[in-house]
Amino acid sequence: METKIIYPDNISEAAECIKNGGTVVFPTETVYGLGGDAFNEKAIDKIYNAKGRPGDNPLIVHISGFDELDNLVSEIKEYAKILMEKFWPGPLTLIFKKKPTVPLKVTAGRNTVAVRFPSNETAQRLIKEAGTPIAAPSANLSGSPSPTVCSDVIDDLFSRVDYIIDATGCEIGLESTVVDVSTDEVVILRPGGVTLEMIREYIPDAKLDSGLIDEDAIPKCPGLKYTHYSPKADVVVVQGEKDKVREYISSKVDEFSGVISYKSGAYESAGLVLYAGNNMEEYAHNLFSHLRTFDKHNIKKVYAEFSPEPGMGVAVQNRLYKSAGHKIIEV
Ligand code: AMP
Ligand code: MG
Repeated sequence: METKIIYPDNISEAAECIKNGGTVVFPTETVYGLGGDAFNEKAIDKIYNAKGRPGDNPLIVHISGFDELDNLVSEIKEYAKILMEKFWPGPLTLIFKKKPTVPLKVTAGRNTVAVRFPSNETAQRLIKEAGTPIAAPSANLSGSPSPTVCSDVIDDLFSRVDYIIDATGCEIGLESTVVDVSTDEVVILRPGGVTLEMIREYIPDAKLDSGLIDEDAIPKCPGLKYTHYSPKADVVVVQGEKDKVREYISSKVDEFSGVISYKSGAYESAGLVLYAGNNMEEYAHNLFSHLRTFDKHNIKKVYAEFSPEPGMGVAVQNRLYKSAGHKIIEV
């Protein structure tokens, strides 16, 4: 199919496409999303097909104002209202009990629906002009790292979608935090830019899904059970005291190795060394784009220096461990 690449100044064309049941890739503050009218089942089918996404992995519905919740959710608990007020618009997805009007294709048969109000201005304008909430998973082929720049989207989805909006954004670089607010407990199903600590400031009892902490438990967030965020290269996470980490990686690397490192000038014999960042926010912003860069340079094995931290570190750890298929070396 023909894919048209446009800039944000031409957004009306893309909004029209959504109204007519088409698919549009748009930027958000987390990663690029692949969107279609949340109430149009044909558009939802197109999204799953374009990504090759398993049908049991539900989509997030994106809104551009609180009033759009009326047609989507059947109940908003008091603590959900607090989270909406504090963190929307932003990188937080909330799981509510759904209204019957929301197609089961969007929620993969569940009686709950995931909703997010993104802060990215282009995303907000697209939803407003389309006049309907937009269901959108990340705009990558299923299984590969989420796209954080337009060229990543083109690599994965060119000729598989109607429109791609080439724009700035994706400052965070990891997908949204997913929080279940459909029961009497507040549970983080997927860590992201809004951290456990930030949520606990308002809801002290909020907790992380035990499936995120215990390696053998199955995460409640359906998307997290898949091999995900994986480049073609094999990824290994190396943790421990800095000098030991560097000594270990140095002993392993050759021209086909890539390294994500906290230090410049290290690992001269490696094929490609990329900077992790100065803090976990920067590591989050760089991770997916680095994984894709290694593939472009034909790197076969990637060693990632990592040292666990709370806050944003939890989200980085979640994505990094998954991209490594839980191959973690403690030195
Ligand atoms: P993506 O947009 O590709 O980051 O994927 C959306 C994530 O939200 C996936 O991991 C889904 O499994 C999760 N999700 C969407 N809807 C629900 C829901 N109703 N209950 C639990 N998790 C959900
Ligand atoms: Mg995804």
